Amino acid sequence: MVGIPVSPGIAIGPVFGASEQQMVVVRQKIHAADIEAQTARFEAAVLQSRKQLMKLRARLGNLPEDSQAEIAPLIDAYLQMIGPSRLIRGARKRIAERLVSAETAVWDETEAIAAAIMAMPAGDDPAGRKRRADEVREVGRRLTRNLTQTPFRSFSGLPQGAILACENLRPADAALLDPARLAGVATDEGGSDGHTAIMLRALGVPSVLGVAGLGPAVRPGDTVIVDGVAGTVIVNPTPERLAEARRAVTAFGKAQQKLALLRRLPAVTTDRKMVDLQANLEIPAELPLIAKAGAAGIGLLRSEFLFMNREGLPTEDEQTETYRSVIEAMGGDPVTIRVLDWGGEKDIEALQTEGIVPEVGDDNPALGLRGIRLLLRETDLFETQLAAILRASNAGPTRVLLPMVTNIAEVRQAREIFERVARRLRRKGERLPERLPALGIMIETPGAALSADALALEADFFAIGTNDLTMYTLAVDRGESDVADLYDPLHPAVLRLVQFATEAALRMRMPVSVCGEMAGNPKLIPLLLGLGLRSFSMNASAVPRVKQAVRSVDIDDCVRLARRVMEQSDPARIQELVMGTPT
Ligand code: PEP
Ligand code: MG
Repeated sequence: MVGIPVSPGIAIGPVFGASEQQMVVVRQKIHAADIEAQTARFEAAVLQSRKQLMKLRARLGNLPEDSQAEIAPLIDAYLQMIGPSRLIRGARKRIAERLVSAETAVWDETEAIAAAIMAMPAGDDPAGRKRRADEVREVGRRLTRNLTQTPFRSFSGLPQGAILACENLRPADAALLDPARLAGVATDEGGSDGHTAIMLRALGVPSVLGVAGLGPAVRPGDTVIVDGVAGTVIVNPTPERLAEARRAVTAFGKAQQKLALLRRLPAVTTDRKMVDLQANLEIPAELPLIAKAGAAGIGLLRSEFLFMNREGLPTEDEQTETYRSVIEAMGGDPVTIRVLDWGGEKDIEALQTEGIVPEVGDDNPALGLRGIRLLLRETDLFETQLAAILRASNAGPTRVLLPMVTNIAEVRQAREIFERVARRLRRKGERLPERLPALGIMIETPGAALSADALALEADFFAIGTNDLTMYTLAVDRGESDVADLYDPLHPAVLRLVQFATEAALRMRMPVSVCGEMAGNPKLIPLLLGLGLRSFSMNASAVPRVKQAVRSVDIDDCVRLARRVMEQSDPARIQELVMGTPT
């Protein structure tokens, strides 16, 4: 099976049967006044489940015919059960008549139907009876997951060396994975620069996402090979394939060891130009990897991890402690902390349970109340985080980064709040560094990129986020497998925006870096150097490869390459010039 390679490495192991996980539903009675609200929740979950299944069904076309023949009837059966079926009618009735929550109604109705199937006369197909009961339960589980917004998977039973193969993995789920236990990941959904992909790269777990038809095609215990370089997944390989994959694992390990030797060498081009290579950090578990990778600081600390997988918001003290420990761990190398970037695919339950944001709807969350927009509206949330960063900034060089900026008013407002918080802390006797941390902005919307000259007068530095910049410029969801082939950071429109923003910063002699996934791709480094960029932040595991790329190029050659690329309007030709291969 073929998908999108998102995190390099080759893994061989048994499939973890997370789909068999039992879900615990707390039984809940409701008041008659809540019937309407519970029914509405139930209908929304039915709709969402239906959408998910239709999507799975539509993507089966990419599978070999015999696999399609096996899987399509199963998905059709699920779809039927989610239509005007006994399950749906029964659950609705339970909410209204027995006054139970939507979860309880789904659970009870599913179990009642499964029990009725099992109680039917055995006939000559007891296995078929069990299968039908399991299918009903599977639909019930999908509905419950969608109702409770719980992760699709529970990883507590993950055996050592297992491969997680499932339909979908949310970024918040990926944050719970233990890279020491998990050998590899393969999922049906997902794109190359979505946050799940970013997390998996950060953890260094070989992964292939967007593998159409994978979920229904694998069973717990199947042996699979996940090739995060080629983007392939082989289910139950032949002994020859297995031997070949084992050789590839050894070769990959040796190449990694060679790269590790670069750790202490400077990131300098052949004509002696220094380049700054820093790491992105999404979860504290990555800190040791950053030290090992030879990165010179953290160019992007995505603070979302502090708000994920928890009930309630982190307090100022709690945040201060976390930031301080990261800053101290970097031993004098700078740390750029991005304030909370909620929104889009990064829906954070804690904000919803606290009532800070409305439940994320399906309708355009990427264009809604996200990033700096949310923080400027929820100033308590913003001020708490800024205070924590300021208090921690004693521990070493720190910078503050604002996400999703689109206009200068946002930067001015944020700076006012930042300075007010600093004054308040000083009044209270807090010892802050004499010069406050620099306040920079992400350039990750076309609006920001095209206003870069004006924004350069307001901000202290730019961090170009090519992931969202590509998504918003091309109107292509970065985490969506169906349009993954259209997601192209080398599209001339994206490159022109990167160039415009970079030149605006350089004119002002203002620091500018790239911290999107582009920065971690060694093949793109010559182009970015040629555009004038000298600072990159990437997932830690990419630092050695990028350093190798930096150490093998001459800036004049890079400038010539960038000129040729920027003259092109055909993305395929750009691909050829940069990657050395036509698309
Ligand atoms: C980006 O959008 O390029 C970026 C670095 O931010 P994130 O990936 O966290 O959205
Ligand atoms: Mg972004």
